[in-house]
Amino acid sequence: MVTGGAGFLGSHLCDRLIKEGSDVICVDNLFTGNKDNIRHLLGNPYFEFIRHDVTMPLYVEVDQIYNLACPASPVHYQHDPIQTGRTSVLGALNMLGLARRLKARILQASTSEVYGDPEVHPQPERYRGCVNPIGIRSCYDEGKRMAETLFFDYKRQENLNIKVVRIFNTYGPRMSLNDGRVISNFVVQALRGEDITIYGDGSQTRSFQYVDDLIEGMYRMMNNSREDFSGPVNIGNPAEYTIKQLAEIVLKMTGSSSKIVYKSLPSDDPVQRCPVIDVAMSELGWKPKVALEEGLKRTIEYFRGLM
Ligand code: NAD
Ligand code: UDP
Ligand code: UDP
Repeated sequence: MVTGGAGFLGSHLCDRLIKEGSDVICVDNLFTGNKDNIRHLLGNPYFEFIRHDVTMPLYVEVDQIYNLACPASPVHYQHDPIQTGRTSVLGALNMLGLARRLKARILQASTSEVYGDPEVHPQPERYRGCVNPIGIRSCYDEGKRMAETLFFDYKRQENLNIKVVRIFNTYGPRMSLNDGRVISNFVVQALRGEDITIYGDGSQTRSFQYVDDLIEGMYRMMNNSREDFSGPVNIGNPAEYTIKQLAEIVLKMTGSSSKIVYKSLPSDDPVQRCPVIDVAMSELGWKPKVALEEGLKRTIEYFRGLM
């Protein structure tokens, strides 16, 4: 079962699981997800879609649960921050309850946001983070932190087989056109000839991972033969770019004549972010394979096709 399965990452995960020969249940309330992302799977007898909000209890029979349900872009998760908190916390609790009843293995899609605006750079899993508990990003950051806590408490108290991955910024086809994340914004702006909007001076950094690399990492984590290895494990691409560099790369690759404009920086926007991936390399034999320019090429083609 994949919660959030009609979203950007969830739909790629459903594709991968179907390809592996699994029987897949996709659970999604379509808040930010979209039936178009899974349309190609809807006629497949090994694929079922359930429109459901994970903040409500769910009774189904499954043996593995990937818990991805949660809006991920700052614009979306700040749209209804109370619902974001509820989704992270109650959604995790319900899925953990389900996993407990079924003795199913459960993986949580956590995030590099648990590190907040980090004072340690790059970020290893043992770094505990620097998160504002009362800011505009807190519904997401603290929600995801509480979800990790619940996962580890279910492991300790209920002996549940849990897996936690901390996903760093991921991009690729099926990001929604208007979800406000930096790669979709820049590519769409460049293709439309609109201004490229850099928030702040563009010196903040992010490390961008192509979606296929992430799916491989999540799949390996779920199916890892070491049952007792729960993570958390960073899954990300350590190649780090400033937002200004990213804008320039997108302009060059699209051949666009868009101009760069500078807008105010949202509050609590992390200054830098880059994963240490030693744990993923040693425990999962995983490292990212797709470089930014290659992934961007595929992403630009996708958005060109849409537009
Ligand atoms: P997305 O918005 O495309 O997908 C999230 C999906 O969850 C959507 O289909 C949405 O409709 C669904 N959803 C939201 N609330 C729900 C609820 N209450 N009940 C049922 N479904 C609900 O975002 P994404 O990028 O695919 O992110 C998927 C997961 O990965 C999220 O948990 C996110 O926090 C995590 N993540 C993503 C990134 C990234 O860079 N893309 C980075 C770190 C973590
Ligand atoms: N739950 C669920 N599906 C199940 C089993 C449990 O949605 O198949 C929900 C249940 O509604 C509860 C939560 O998961 O709110 C936690 O369940 P658990 O059994 O761990 O705790 P309890 O029900 O004892 O509070
Ligand atoms: N950003 C930007 N212009 C945009 C969208 C985002 O400069 O049109 C910046 C944003 O302020 C942040 C970085 O790009 O510093 C990454 O933003 P995103 O929303 O993609 O992810 P997150 O902040 O959650 O890492």
